[in-house]
Amino acid sequence: MYEVVFLGTANAFPTKRRSCSGLLIEAPGFRMLVEASPGIVSRLDRIGVSPGDIRRIFISHSHGDHTLGFPTLVLSRIRAATRLQVYAAQDTLSMLQMLWTLAYADFDSNYLKCDWHRMSERRPDEVEVAPGVILRTIVVPYPPGATTLAARWDFEDGPSVTFVTDTIPNTASIQLAQGSDLLIHEATYSAELQPNEDPARHFHSTARQAGEVARQAGCPRLALVHLGPEISNYPKVLVQEARADTDLQVIVPEDGERVRVDAES
Ligand SMILES: [Zn+2]
Repeated sequence: MYEVVFLGTANAFPTKRRSCSGLLIEAPGFRMLVEASPGIVSRLDRIGVSPGDIRRIFISHSHGDHTLGFPTLVLSRIRAATRLQVYAAQDTLSMLQMLWTLAYADFDSNYLKCDWHRMSERRPDEVEVAPGVILRTIVVPYPPGATTLAARWDFEDGPSVTFVTDTIPNTASIQLAQGSDLLIHEATYSAELQPNEDPARHFHSTARQAGEVARQAGCPRLALVHLGPEISNYPKVLVQEARADTDLQVIVPEDGERVRVDAES
C-alpha cells in the first residue's frame, strides 16, 4: 500500500488546526519524511512513528517553516541504529548543519548522525533512495537566497507522487509532475477569497494555479497544502477553485490525514 500522511498543511503561519509543512511518504518497506518543520517530532509521534523509524528526509528549501524542526529530529534520533539520509540542495544542507550547531553548540558532532545528499540546484537530478524508489528533483523559481526544489517519487510497479511548494506556477514543476498519480501542490493563497493578492510577489501560488499545474501535468489528483491562515478554513472554496469545473480530483487534507495513492493504470 502506498500512502501519504499529511503531518502539516499550513504555510509559515501555523494555526490551532494546522502546523507548518510536513509529509510522510510510505510504501511497502519504505518511509520518507518530507520537510522538518517546527514540531515535526510530536506530529510523527501522534501517528505512532518514532524519530528512529525515519531514515530518510527530503527538504525543499531552507526557510524556517520547513527546517526549524531539524535539530529536534536529529536529537530525538539519538538512539537510532541508522544514520539519517538527508536529501536537499546545497544551501539547504548548509542551513541544516548551521541550525544543528546553533541549537546544540556544546554537543560533539557524533550526535549528528546524518549523511548529506546534495541534489542539483541547476538541473533536474535523480537518485535511488531505496531499491525501486527514485527521487527526482528540479529547481523551481524562488526568492534570492532560498534555492527551492520540487520533488517526485517514482515507485517501481507503483504510483508516483510529486510535491511542489513555495513557488509560482512554472514549467519545471509541470515537467516534473508529468503524469504523477498525486500532485501535492502549495496553495498559500486563494484567487477566489483574496482577489487582490498577488501571490507571485511572494513566490507562492493560488489554489486556482495549483489546479492549472495539475491539469497541464496530466495529474488526475491534487492535494492542496501550505495553506495560508486566511484561507485554510474554507476547503470547499479551495476545492472548487482548483477544480474549475473539470474532473480533476482535489482534496484539502487535514493535519494527520492519511491518503492512499494508487497507480493510475
Ligand atoms: Zn513555506
